[in-house]
Amino acid sequence: MVDLHIHTSCSDGSLPPVEVVERAAARNLRAVAITDHDTVDGNADAIAAGRRLGVDVVPGVEISTHWEGTTFHLLGYGLRRRPERVRSTFAFLEESRRQRTPRMVEKLQGLGLDVTLDDVVREANGSLIGRPHFARVLLRKGLVSTFQEAFDRYLKRGAAAYVHKERLSPAAAAELIGEAGGIAVLAHPGLIDSERPGFLPELLTHLTGLGLAGLEAHYSGHSPEETARYVSLARQTGLLVTGGSDFHRPGEGGPEMGTGFGGLRVPDSCYEELARRIAAFDRADGRRQE
Ligand code: AMP
Ligand code: ZN
Ligand code: FE
Ligand code: FE
Repeated sequence: MVDLHIHTSCSDGSLPPVEVVERAAARNLRAVAITDHDTVDGNADAIAAGRRLGVDVVPGVEISTHWEGTTFHLLGYGLRRRPERVRSTFAFLEESRRQRTPRMVEKLQGLGLDVTLDDVVREANGSLIGRPHFARVLLRKGLVSTFQEAFDRYLKRGAAAYVHKERLSPAAAAELIGEAGGIAVLAHPGLIDSERPGFLPELLTHLTGLGLAGLEAHYSGHSPEETARYVSLARQTGLLVTGGSDFHRPGEGGPEMGTGFGGLRVPDSCYEELARRIAAFDRADGRRQE
């Protein structure tokens, strides 16, 4: 079993990178990828833990990008380098996120809700603050009755407490991933199809022009029919097939590492082909640098 889409407490997951890898080992996962939102901070600890525990760890990232009116996520895999330009781009994304937090608190307070900056900071417990942390504060305080209600009423785009955060263009995200030594994969196409039916073919044409390497056909939220459709779409388009759970935390009804909502089964071959592609990219890159 493998899982190529996992969050840690460096973004909005609950487990620190080492505990993520311990969980992977306990669940008999052979390989995992760490794909935190807009940060690579968890990768080094996860790789070290993987060596100790016999789990292959692919250093990755999940970058929010925006194109033609739609937001979607690009996964980067095999990120082992942090030249200055990569560092400064990640710093810019973090800063944009930091600036958003107090403005969202103000908006919630303006709506008469008792939410303070301190509540959110405490909820995040040292991680980069994201909207899921806000949702959990609202839920804990009884201001909404479900996590989803927090998004629908306050946090989703266009809702009352939404504040825009800078996002990279897919071109900039693909360039960032390449400069960090990685390859780019389009995350959870099922979410794109449900948010904007008919957009995916146009998006894939644009992204393959930017060097897109793969499509996340296996995903917790995909039905078996969707998975089959995305696997064949990837094959037709010459893209690698990848997959993962989008694990954030144990329990609470979210997807579990490796198995998602129960029906997820990412073939080991997805990891093997990804690893081969990353190694090939390395060799080509080494030649360029000679
Ligand atoms: P942020 O990085 O702060 O923009 O938050 C993004 C995260 O919020 C996503 O990875 C999802 O986990 C969650 N999210 C975004 N939009 C929604 C939504 N409409 N409903 C539920 N969760 C959402
Ligand atoms: Zn997340
Ligand atoms: Fe995502
Ligand atoms: Fe994710």
